[in-house]
Amino acid sequence: MLIKPGTTVSLKEYDPDDRGPFASPEEADEALHKQLDELSRLQNLLYAESRRALLVVLQGMDTSGKDGTIRHVMAGLSPLGVQVKAFKVPTQEELAHDFLWRVHQEVPKHGFIGIFNRSHYEDVLVVRVHGLVPRKVWKNRYELINQFEKLLVKNNVIILKFFLHISKAEQKARLEQRLADPTRYWKFSLQDAKEREYWSAYRKAYEDALSQCSTKWAPWHLVPANHKWYRNLVVAETIVQTLRELDMEYPPPSVDLSKIKIK
Ligand code: AMP
Ligand code: MG
Repeated sequence: MLIKPGTTVSLKEYDPDDRGPFASPEEADEALHKQLDELSRLQNLLYAESRRALLVVLQGMDTSGKDGTIRHVMAGLSPLGVQVKAFKVPTQEELAHDFLWRVHQEVPKHGFIGIFNRSHYEDVLVVRVHGLVPRKVWKNRYELINQFEKLLVKNNVIILKFFLHISKAEQKARLEQRLADPTRYWKFSLQDAKEREYWSAYRKAYEDALSQCSTKWAPWHLVPANHKWYRNLVVAETIVQTLRELDMEYPPPSVDLSKIKIK
């Protein structure tokens, strides 16, 4: 669901359990596959045109399903035209620059779909929650982010920002799953269990990011994410709809084809 620019977001008004009109994952499966086929067709057009880029930003609490969304929604894309970047704790080098420096370099070029697993929004989320910079520094960043995103949009980068909305109870279940399943041990980090204690501070920080940075040129989309299959469908549908609205066309031939004979 699109967060209308100017809305003051209160997360408790959005149900993370929402699953649209679907009673079961099976019902949504066919819809998802249709979207993924369409996505693949549109990606080919985007690549052929090479006039604009699509930047998909994924944010959400730990275990909200950022990795899973990439795995399931981007599965049908050609790796040729996709780049994924996961933003981690900044290095010393990165910290010695402005906070957008490392991000700007990862913005996809025309023809490409770029996916950010976390993003410049961490600089008003984790950084705010843990007071890694003074309040007046992070306070300024919302406006800087909006300006930065405007710059990208004016350079034909389409920005889709998704907040994967899960409940605290669902996070507990997912963390417990990681503790119980040997194929998921690697995903468990003590850090995640600790971050959970800051749940309400993160909620507040997310509410501000969604309220202040849902702009006409780069709006936020809130995705109910307790049900993974519904989350995947919503993200896929939103990307497809956005690409469709571009009315892309294959470029005309660069030479007079009637004069060409393949010997
Ligand atoms: P993960 O996404 O689980 O691999 O974890 C990446 C970690 O990097 C998370 O704990 C993020 O909060 C942290 N991180 C990402 N960007 C920043 C940032 N700008 N400042 C501080 N921590 C960050
Ligand atoms: Mg993690």
